[in-house]
Amino acid sequence: MKVDIITLFPGMFVGPLNDSIVKIAKEKNLVKIKAHNLRKWAKDKHRTLDDRPYGGGKGMVLMVEPIFEALKKIAPKGKSQKSKTILLSPQGKTFTQKKAEELAKLDHIVLIAGHYEGFDERIRDHLIDEEISIGDYVLTGGELPAMVVIDSVVRLIPGVLEEEAKRNESFSKNTLDYPQYTRPADFKGWKVPEVLLSGDHAEIEKWREEKSLEKTKRVRPDLIKKD
Ligand code: SAH
Repeated sequence: MKVDIITLFPGMFVGPLNDSIVKIAKEKNLVKIKAHNLRKWAKDKHRTLDDRPYGGGKGMVLMVEPIFEALKKIAPKGKSQKSKTILLSPQGKTFTQKKAEELAKLDHIVLIAGHYEGFDERIRDHLIDEEISIGDYVLTGGELPAMVVIDSVVRLIPGVLEEEAKRNESFSKNTLDYPQYTRPADFKGWKVPEVLLSGDHAEIEKWREEKSLEKTKRVRPDLIKKD
């Protein structure tokens, strides 16, 4: 998979995408990630990318033309069927595990990270396939949301993680993950549940399912009501 990010701050992507699972995925050549500086596509000699909104009001708005030029280069229309251009914005559809699974099947993802007050609406109307929000709160820029999307998608690309590791994960079955314990079996009197030490795999499986459901009902009843 190829991931291209269009951003005003490519430097923000250097550290976070060069460690842990994403680093392994890159080393295995399962993903290529590139952050492009939008300023490269600025039109005038002052390298302007944003301007005041028509009609007045506070803040600066990202212009349509530099984004248009960037996409012409990065994601030429009709080149790949399995390519999507995504705008990160609090006005988008809320990102979910299901969406991450869908995106993990693509060959190419282009993520546009905004900044300042927002985007010229014509970017939404004419240049993108989808608009994604990572939650109902407002951040200063789309860089962190882009990283959230990349991290959750990359770990789902076949070959990045062991399949087993993803099987019971939170949200994969409309439930949260079951409780996990590791050594020691008794820490200051805080004991690991007996059943996990029993070696009885059927009982362990049953216990895990019960706990997973119990926790989901308690903290995220909305997940169970879904579908
Ligand atoms: N005025 C806009 C918010 C702009 S925030 C509004 O009210 O809708 C500046 C940029 O940060 C946005 O353009 C977007 O790219 C990014 N951003 C902020 N919050 C986000 C969120 N919850 N999800 C995804 N991107 C977000």
